[in-house]
Amino acid sequence: MHTIDVARPVRALASLSALAVGDAFGSQFFVPDNRSRLVDRELPPGPWQWTDDTEMAASVYAEVRRGVGVDADRLASSFAHHHDFDRGYGPATGRMLRLVREGGDWRSLASELFEGAGSFGNGAAMRVAPLGAWYAEDLDEVAAQAEVSARVTHTHPEAVDGAVAVALAAALVARHELLGAGPFLDRVVERLPQGRVREAVRDARALLITTDSIGVARELGNGSRVSALDTVPFALWVTARYRSGLASALWAAVAPGGDMDTTCAIVAGALGAGLPAGALPREWVERTEPLPAWALG
Ligand SMILES: [Mg+2]
Repeated sequence: MHTIDVARPVRALASLSALAVGDAFGSQFFVPDNRSRLVDRELPPGPWQWTDDTEMAASVYAEVRRGVGVDADRLASSFAHHHDFDRGYGPATGRMLRLVREGGDWRSLASELFEGAGSFGNGAAMRVAPLGAWYAEDLDEVAAQAEVSARVTHTHPEAVDGAVAVALAAALVARHELLGAGPFLDRVVERLPQGRVREAVRDARALLITTDSIGVARELGNGSRVSALDTVPFALWVTARYRSGLASALWAAVAPGGDMDTTCAIVAGALGAGLPAGALPREWVERTEPLPAWALG
């Protein structure tokens, strides 16, 4: 068991707060007028609304802070209860949450998605960083709890592996171990099962020789297919490469386009796990919509 100075609730909330900033920031660049601001790294005008990434992450946070392990039924119910159609959910997840809210069984609904393959989308990965921050003392627990949280909506192995990978990254950031970017990704890879996500995070490790996030996204994907495989390896490359600065990391994450709210939510959620309270860049926080009150109560 690894010892960490910062308490679990503080780490998890720091991760969630940063995740919301990343999500809200990334989503601004779907507005065509804001694309030109990328060149000079000029912040888009506020207010920045967060999207489904933050809404679902708030449920994950509310669940882990109960302190008794993730209860899949309760998490499913929270996702369904708080589902706001206007927050940019993917069509399959949005429909599923509506059916759960109407009394459907999440277990069968989740496993029936995509003709029985289960969703391989990035939705389990985008919301999981606060969980990694919470369980960071014990990486086995991080992986186990991340899997439970993922399978509520995403049963495809690649979606589960993507969520486990992101949770591990957030945990490793929270632990403040002195790791270079390469060993950081090695620690993620060594806990992932064989499969395409693991291979792609290994590919991300090999690309740490460059700082060109646009070129790296060309190799790894930028989330434009909204799959875990197309999103998580790139987001973890950014996390590893830019661990020392959230703002630089988010500019690097957003530059290649793609599923920008989600790549930025993953990067910020992971890096936020290691930031002390109040350490988020102020101009960014001031523009970002506050977290939902129900998650904080
Ligand atoms: Mg979103």
